[in-house]
Amino acid sequence: MSDDLSIEDIFNLDYLRTMLKSREGEAKFAHLGLGEVRLTENMFELLPALIAKHLRTKGLTPSKRINVRLIVDPVSIFRLGSDVKQDLMILLEASYQARLVVLDDGQPHLHADEAILQRALQAIIGADCIVSLGGGTITDIAKFAAHHANIPVHIVVQTAASVDGYTDNFSVVLQNGVKTTLTTRWPDAVVVDSCLIAAVPHHLNAAGFGELMSMYCAPGDWFLAAKLGMDRNYIPALLDFLAPCGKDIEIWSSDFGRRDGQACAHLTKALALRGIVTGIGGTTAPLSGMEHLFSHMLDMIHGHDHEPMGLHGQQVGVGSLIRGVAWDFFCEKMQENIPSQTRLFTPIASFESRVRDAFATLDPTGRLGDECWLRYRKKLILWHEAKDKVLAFFQNWEKYRQEHNRLTRDAGTIAHYMRQAQAVMHYHQLTPSLSREWLHFVVANCQFMRERFTIADLLTLTGWWHGEHVAQVLDRVDELCHDAGGSMK
Ligand SMILES: [Zn+2]
Repeated sequence: MSDDLSIEDIFNLDYLRTMLKSREGEAKFAHLGLGEVRLTENMFELLPALIAKHLRTKGLTPSKRINVRLIVDPVSIFRLGSDVKQDLMILLEASYQARLVVLDDGQPHLHADEAILQRALQAIIGADCIVSLGGGTITDIAKFAAHHANIPVHIVVQTAASVDGYTDNFSVVLQNGVKTTLTTRWPDAVVVDSCLIAAVPHHLNAAGFGELMSMYCAPGDWFLAAKLGMDRNYIPALLDFLAPCGKDIEIWSSDFGRRDGQACAHLTKALALRGIVTGIGGTTAPLSGMEHLFSHMLDMIHGHDHEPMGLHGQQVGVGSLIRGVAWDFFCEKMQENIPSQTRLFTPIASFESRVRDAFATLDPTGRLGDECWLRYRKKLILWHEAKDKVLAFFQNWEKYRQEHNRLTRDAGTIAHYMRQAQAVMHYHQLTPSLSREWLHFVVANCQFMRERFTIADLLTLTGWWHGEHVAQVLDRVDELCHDAGGSMK
């Protein structure tokens, strides 16, 4: 079936809608509310007609009475040597009542925390249209604000192929210091300027390649969650829809590593399709498992150390390898012995001090520990309620292991793709830098920060995720990166 779909179909959303309709029997998909995706060589030629069209669609007549806000962060962006934000303001002011909204929290990379979200919301009240220009964070903030302020039109201008969140209706925000995914709003249009994307430093687009790697491990976590009774909304059709994202990756990943413009455009389209699939599935679960928890925890650590945030996709790429190795480790442990029922269903309360103690390191006030224990406790309750499914999973282990492996790629293959793409694969290469101690902390405790079930939970609940186990997994990741030529041992 996935042969019916290609990444070029992101430019033909009506076709995607028809296809979704034909598969309605399999699952209930969310409405695909994205207006259009446009890949252009010059956004300044495209935008005037595009904005006018979407205003008309919402019953608004383009004129000087229309209020438009351009939402950006303070980072300078240049296109062919010219300041993009300035040029876009000139373009908007020519036809509309336009105002520039610069969101700045004083940090090198903007955080989508409560204060910034409120500031964005205030700044766009009364607007008819917002145009957001930037990366994933500014897009998420703009989607959140447009949703809550009921802004008729939201146009997204994407400035790097760094994440997949441009084309979905979710925003990842910080709530009580913890990353949370909220359903917000589909953009009316997502505009990609190939000239702009090709000009950004390789490490930004390579972060997008790291983000892409989650498609080779997160479906495994989602599958485990479904089979263990921890996620009742497993929709295999969504994984079919994602298949075109990885088509011919063996070839185009090395082109991408050589900074080829076509390969860069390919990555942009693949990420766009991922965003769309996430939106129609109504969940980020197919593409967000342990590797995303790893990234979210890193953000938490950097927040704690008052350091700038690292690149989301870069962290997800590193996390994808760790997740792949964690799965191999679990499979080996299962060959040694099957965990007993008593081990699998340890009393819920026995985890409380482990969770609270872990997060007290980051936040001695206990606020973070409260939030994480609240989330983890819910997961544990569900685990105990799902006892029959859990036991059936262990009884049918070999069958499920094979099914899992059909949905993922092994860690060595992921490392190979990342090496070809010249993407960061080892924690030593991350910015800001991360000590081995903090790496260990993140990997050992990431499962405690979110309700979503991953291989890290399975390892925790089988008793195979204590200090020595985590250290073994990290040593193997070192070896893997070394063998793939991605890092020193
Ligand atoms: Zn992501």
